[in-house]
Amino acid sequence: MSAAEQGQSSDAGTGLRARLAEVRQRIDACALGAGRDPSEITLIAVSKTHSAEVVAAAAAVGVTDLGENRVQEAESKIVALAAAGGPHLRWHLIGHLQSNKARRAVRLFEVIHTVDSAALVGRLEKLCEEEERAELPVLVQLSLADEATKAGATESELPSIVEEIDGCKRVRLVGLMTLPPFFDEVERVRAFFRRLRELRDGLRARDAFRGRAGELSMGMSHDFELAVEEGATMVRVGTAIFGARGRTPA
Ligand SMILES: *Cc1c(COP(=O)(O)O)cnc(C)c1O
Repeated sequence: MSAAEQGQSSDAGTGLRARLAEVRQRIDACALGAGRDPSEITLIAVSKTHSAEVVAAAAAVGVTDLGENRVQEAESKIVALAAAGGPHLRWHLIGHLQSNKARRAVRLFEVIHTVDSAALVGRLEKLCEEEERAELPVLVQLSLADEATKAGATESELPSIVEEIDGCKRVRLVGLMTLPPFFDEVERVRAFFRRLRELRDGLRARDAFRGRAGELSMGMSHDFELAVEEGATMVRVGTAIFGARGRTPA
């Protein structure tokens, strides 16, 4: 970058641009190393706890997909960014969805990654009708660890959730998502990513994605390379792009 260009961009924008480019480069290198096409991997920049101004700066350096885990927090940013004009942004809900927030989620988000029950599917379908939303792409979030605290449906609940979605006109299954437990030894998450891919492959064999391949939403700042090796098509990266979130709870 020339001195003149550097003078034009803010320090925050410059740092963001460099971190974004580095993450994208690592994804691409990893995909190529695994014999995959890098273009099939969507980078979702997780902007939770960061301001609308930070999101605008990210959009200005080429971010197109944003992840938020709380409907209320996301709403003010989505409204602010839409009001400011600029490029179209795709907002992904990646946090647990409470049924009392479902209507606003249907209005605000392009994709919901955290469908975890047949009851929620039914509610989303009804809300899509009421809100006149023709199509809502969703992923089923799976909890693959034996931890009662982890969000997501269990493997045994998956068939009934898929069946419920199959009966919907508006809610459409596009893939699976998981958030594995945190391990100091990052290699241990590989088994969870692999399992998610197997489940996706099983659903694909039954055409649960209606002719599409089926997305795998997996991988965060500390483990997205492993996720790409195991087939991720959507990686959700916050810290490595925006820096640490401080003490705000995830
Ligand atoms: C916060 C969050 C991320 C991003 O985490 P980083 O470690 O900051 O990359 C990804 N997925 C979900 C579900 C999250 O809540």
